[in-house]
This record gives sequence, structure tokens and C-alpha cells, in this order.
Amino acid sequence: MTSFGQAAFVGLGAYATAWITLSPEAAQWLAALPKGIYPWIGLLLGLAVTALVAWVLGAVTLRLSGHYLPLGTIAWGLSLYYVFGNLEVLGGFTGLSGIPPLEVFGVSLASPRLLGVVIWAVLLVAIWGLHNLLDSREGRAIRALKSGRLMAESMGVDTARQRIKVFVLAALLAALSGWLYVLLQRFVNPTPFALNIGIEYLFMAVVGGSGHLWGAVLGATLITLLKEQLQDWLPRLLGSSGNFEIVVFGLLMLLVLQRAPNGLWPMLASATRRLLRPQAAPRQLVAGGGTATLDQRQLPPPGQQILQAQRVTKRFAGLVANNAVDLDVRAGEVHALIGPNGAGKSTFFNMISGVDDPTEGQVRLMGQVMAGKPSRAFAALGLGRTFQHVRLLGERSVLENVALGAHQRGHRGWVASMLRLDRAEEAAVLAEAMRQIERCGLADVAHTPAASLPLGQQRIVEIARALAGQPAVLLLDEPAAGLRHLEKQSLATLLTQLRGEGLAILVVEHDMEFVMNLADRITVLEFGTVIAHGTPAEVQANPRVIAAYLGGDVL
Ligand code: ADP
Ligand code: MG
Repeated sequence: MTSFGQAAFVGLGAYATAWITLSPEAAQWLAALPKGIYPWIGLLLGLAVTALVAWVLGAVTLRLSGHYLPLGTIAWGLSLYYVFGNLEVLGGFTGLSGIPPLEVFGVSLASPRLLGVVIWAVLLVAIWGLHNLLDSREGRAIRALKSGRLMAESMGVDTARQRIKVFVLAALLAALSGWLYVLLQRFVNPTPFALNIGIEYLFMAVVGGSGHLWGAVLGATLITLLKEQLQDWLPRLLGSSGNFEIVVFGLLMLLVLQRAPNGLWPMLASATRRLLRPQAAPRQLVAGGGTATLDQRQLPPPGQQILQAQRVTKRFAGLVANNAVDLDVRAGEVHALIGPNGAGKSTFFNMISGVDDPTEGQVRLMGQVMAGKPSRAFAALGLGRTFQHVRLLGERSVLENVALGAHQRGHRGWVASMLRLDRAEEAAVLAEAMRQIERCGLADVAHTPAASLPLGQQRIVEIARALAGQPAVLLLDEPAAGLRHLEKQSLATLLTQLRGEGLAILVVEHDMEFVMNLADRITVLEFGTVIAHGTPAEVQANPRVIAAYLGGDVL
């Protein structure tokens, strides 16, 4: 999420404390309290105001797609600068001075050196907390946002909520740094919170590596030092003063985006890793998953209808992609959906998994009418799915990817994760992921980045991820595509075993041999309409099916 507004949030944190410690009104209200705790009250006020503003701003802009968030934060950054500058109580553009130093247990931290220690301590604690957060169930959900919303929602992640929380957290950290800044400078005016500083923060993130915690520290260090040097040297070279460093930053940005689009930290990290140690050892898993247990789902008895589509129709402008399709999937069966390219199979998948709503007709899952519900509601009721175009987090290990599938079976939240109170549950999640990985024959590659696997195996990773959610019904979009013969056989064996355990499976597949050997029932779609339905033998003998496939020689 690109935000130009971080500097404005820093300003909120700074001004809150300046106002609390200097204004006569605040002094009246807080008269009963010792002066020493005013900066602490300023911190609380700054965080509260920032949380509120960030939440409102996020709620308005984050729901919109594309460039609305950056534009919204630019508007926000600009307007807050002028609010700071024009409010008489905040000292206008000249600012406020004489802010008292921070006191901790009666010790005054007036010296920048002493406060510097506090600043570093706060930074390290923040990094520790964020590291913990990213290394948890919630952290996996946050990382999943990067690949778009579709996959994360299908894993049961409330993406809108996660995005707002990330935005508010980032704003709170900015406000915290504003508080430290004002106690260091003991003076405040609007200049350090202007839009160009917000842009500078963005430079820092991009140069350091916005996907890496230490990238932020590296980027901030580099840009700050560079800015100082440039402000010294450029006027001497050019013979006049001005904000020339911004030009150099612009060029530097282009260079970094060209040469190191993920920032400098990953480059540095991989270089030092090669020098220091051969390979980071994969994390040890607690055998059996420790003491915590994940939510368990009771599978319905064999034969019970799990998923039911009734006269599902989908129109795209003039095109009827699904025309009154009836289909049901029962516990303990494999139902195959076949049809030529463009028949409407993927569209139908979207209808029955909550990605898109039917134009007419209805979908029932576990007996519930699902009209208008998001795909995470389908996931919550026990629908697991894979994607025709594989959607994995390529840089993360197979284990991490599969663990995301168990997201909704755990409950530990952000604060618990940051404080490492989620370890028992996390161990249970990872153990469950490992079980599914072993069951799908992926144990050898559990710690390999998903992107380095062949496409066929990535499809199996998606199946393992779906299984980690303990689904009652499994939707597989072309699971055998890209698999070699032996791999197809082991996939068939796995699906047969899952069917035996009582899972309902709906599979879209092109490989007719695979489908005919595996499926209990087959539905054939052509131009969005069901043209045949029955056992493999019945469907193979159906003249309309033979006609539809004639020339395609698939049957
Ligand atoms: P299949 O998966 O069976 O190959 P699809 O469901 O992908 O077929 O597509 C069915 C038809 O619907 C195709 O003609 C396709 O072009 C059309 N279609 C699919 N998605 C959209 C969309 N979002 N907008 C317009 N047309 C679409
Ligand atoms: Mg398709």
C-alpha cells in the first residue's frame, strides 16, 4: 500500500505532545497531574488521534482499488501541513518551542545522547514486535495480501480488515516516531511534516527494501546520511543553494528501481549470508503440534449434499457464460466438470466459490443460501479450492504457503502474535501444514520456496493448502495440468483416498483418462449449458458429448 501520508502522521504524534505540554487549556485540564507525565499523556493523545484519523482515512480510501490510496494520502499530507501551519494554538508556521524534556522515573532525558538510547530501544522493540507479527498466522495473512485479494479471501482472510489494520499500525508507528522527534528537538513547526518529507520516507522504504523490516533501517540511514552530504556539497559545486538533493534522490530512485527493484536490503542480506553461513536452517517443528489444537470440522456423512448449484446463470454483457446450470456435489464422491475451452467451467467455479455472484439462480453450501456472501464465508463453511492459474507466494516456503490454508482454524490476533503469545497455536498450524505436505508427497520440498518448484508440483501445493483448512468440499481447477504420468497417478491415489475419507470433490479437468478413471459422476458443459450428466460410461456413450468433442479427439 503506497502512502505519502506518513510524515503527516509523524506530525500528529509530535504536535499532540507539543500542545499538551505548552497550551494553557491543557495545563488547566491536567492541573491535578505532575508535569513530568505530560509528555506521556501527549503520547497517548497522539496515538489516539492518529488511530482515529488513519482508520477513517483507511476506511474511505482502502476499499477503493488502484491509485486512490496514494492520492488520498497526498491530499491528506498536504492538508494537514496547512492545518498545522494555520492553527494559532499550534504556533502557526513559526511553530512552538520550549517543550520540556522527557522524564523517566524522575530522570530527565534532556541530553540527545540519553534520548538516543531510548530511540534505539523503541526502534528495536518495534522491529521485534513487527518481526513476530510477520512470523505468525496473521503475518501470513498480511503477506498474502501482496498477491491480491482473491487468493487470501479464499483462504478465509478478511482482506479489507487486514489492510486497514496494517495502515493504522503504520500510522501509529509514525506517530510514535513523531513523539520521539519532538522530545529530541524540543521544538516543532510544520516543515518536517510536509508532503516532500512523506515522499522522502517512501524513498527510504523503496531504497532499503519495502518488504523487509531491516530495509527500513537501512533505507532511512542511507537517505539521511546522503541528504546531509548532498546539502553540504551540492551548493558548493553548483555555486548556489536550493533543494538540489531532491534531483539526486530522483535519479537514485530510478537507478534502484532499475537495478534492485526489491531494494538494497535483500541484496545485502544474500551477500552476507553467502559469506557468513551456508544456509539458514529451517525452523524446527514441534512434533505433534504442541499443546494447542486447531478448530476441527465434523465431516458430513457420505452421500449428503454439500454443495448445490440451482439454475446458476451468469451473463457478461451479451454473453451467457453459464446458462441455468444445475449441479451438486455430495460427501464421499468425485464429481467432474468437463467441457471444451470457453465452455464456462471457470466462470462456474467463481459462482460456487463466492468470487462472483450469479446473475440468476442460487448456490447452497451445507444447506445455506450463499447469495452475496464473500468467498471467505464459503471458506468458513468448509469450501477449499485451488486455482487454474496457480496462486502461491513464490518467495515463501511450501510450508508457509500450506500453513496459510489453516488460517481460519486459528484465532490468535495481532497483539498476541507481536508478543509471541501465539507460539502454541502457531506450532499446531505448522504441524498441521506439515501433515498435509507429507500426505501430498511434498515432504522433500517443504522448506523450498514455492516458485522454484515445477508448475505441476505447485498445483499439488495448492491442494495441500486447501486441505490444511480441513474442507468438507474441495474444488480443483485443472489439478492434473502439467503433471507427469506418475505424478498424475499419485494425484489420483490421493483424491481417491480423500473421497474415501468422506470429502466431496469437484474437479475441472481436461485429461479424459484421468477424469474417466476417477470420477463417480460427470457433468458436461458446452457454451455454458449442461449437455450431459451421468456416470463416466453414460457420458462417454452420449451422442451430444461425442459431437461436442468431435475433432478434439479427447474422448
Ligand atoms: P472455461 O473455463 O470453460 O474455459 P470460462 O469460464 O473461462 O471457460 O469462460 C466462459 C466464457 O465466458 C468465455 O467465452 C469467456 O470469454 C467468457 N468470460 C469469462 N470471464 C469473463 C469476464 N469477466 N467478462 C467477460 N467475459 C468473460
Ligand atoms: Mg477455465
